[in-house]
Amino acid sequence: MSGRATIPPNTRTYVSDSSLHRAEECPASQALPCVGHVNMPANVGSAIHDHLELRAKHGIEKAFAEIEAICDRWGLVDVTRDVTIARCHKFKWVPPDGATAELPLAWDAEGRAIMVDGGRGTYNLPPGAWGPGTIDILWSEPEPLVWTHDPRFGNCLAVPHCPEGSTLFVADYKTGEDRYVPPVENNPQVASGAAKAANLTGAKNVVAMVIFVTGEQGVWDVSEPWGPGRLAAAKARVRAIHDSAMQAKADVAKGVVRPREGMHCLYCDAFTHCPAKVDMITSVLGSGRPCYEVEDDLPKLVATIAQVETFVRNAKALLRASVEETGKSIDLGGGLYWGEKVGSRLKFVSHKTLPVLKNELGEDAIDAFETTKARIRAVVKAHLEAQGIRRKGAPTARRILEQIEKAGGSYLEPTSTYTWYREDDDNDGEDFEV
Ligand code: SF4
Repeated sequence: MSGRATIPPNTRTYVSDSSLHRAEECPASQALPCVGHVNMPANVGSAIHDHLELRAKHGIEKAFAEIEAICDRWGLVDVTRDVTIARCHKFKWVPPDGATAELPLAWDAEGRAIMVDGGRGTYNLPPGAWGPGTIDILWSEPEPLVWTHDPRFGNCLAVPHCPEGSTLFVADYKTGEDRYVPPVENNPQVASGAAKAANLTGAKNVVAMVIFVTGEQGVWDVSEPWGPGRLAAAKARVRAIHDSAMQAKADVAKGVVRPREGMHCLYCDAFTHCPAKVDMITSVLGSGRPCYEVEDDLPKLVATIAQVETFVRNAKALLRASVEETGKSIDLGGGLYWGEKVGSRLKFVSHKTLPVLKNELGEDAIDAFETTKARIRAVVKAHLEAQGIRRKGAPTARRILEQIEKAGGSYLEPTSTYTWYREDDDNDGEDFEV
């Protein structure tokens, strides 16, 4: 447990469906301040969601007519933009006629599912409402959903109704890596959406699904049909998560934070205010308390590696942007710089390299065909040692490499690396280790 009275609480009064998994694992994640940041995978996901929403509402042609505008909206450029558009073209699945897309729902104070304003984790809720979330796509079979004015809402608002005897299908699109998504039978986000959708539409049977947007038809994780008992349990589970998160807020307001680390930390918006992460970084750097010594903590270390890699990637992107903008390397003092290091890498043309190697090495030549300079040196050394010749490896390899070059079997490929370097560094394009 860590106590830090200086941490201001997160004032949000609800846990949205997309945060349920992390909130269940770590209620403190809902209590600490969240920091908005540019997250390109999330923007790609949002663009694909927008495109699929248009497919359901207006058909696939209209959806593709808007794809460039959608990419603009989410700031997708260059390769990311091209790959996102290509992914949408490859994914051929179209929701059934009558499907409803992007439906934001919550529970009201009386325990009824209601339609609300908002989306993407931010909602305007009436007093006492809780558990908001947006359902990516829902439909019913064999009869489609019917939009009717519902007396529960004073007949002034049309809501979708699931015809008697039909099954309601509720799906959540996933555009990222499936290893971070809980299986559908234990996925609180999908269960929460299914429970609210059933309550709103009057459906007695619901099939919940996670659709991974990949390939032509996607990969579908589909639940067994869930009846009223299972849906009531889902609602109770979400309420328990909500209550734990609200308790964590009260604790944080008193200066008490109880973070629980794990793989759920990977996309946590409270990461930068999390005391556990400060401990993590100081521990990994060797200057803090050794919090990764016991076996139970090892899973945390796995999550830590992923987060530190994210940190390194983001930090390098920031540094690179600075170098590109100013056109100057970053001066670290003492002749050391961080910036673009232009060099070259020796490459080999296989069909011109092979005759030279065969002449020198016989059948062992084929072992060189990874083909790298280091590999050729290793094969030469092994070839000579097999004949009892030692200490001739380096000059022999040099001679062979020269022959390969003369035969036009190798060439220098320009490389550009952003890294540390010295002004007088001439290490042939290999990484400078510090
Ligand atoms: S980073 Fe991890 S431990 Fe910290 S608040 Fe977020 S989910 Fe909890």
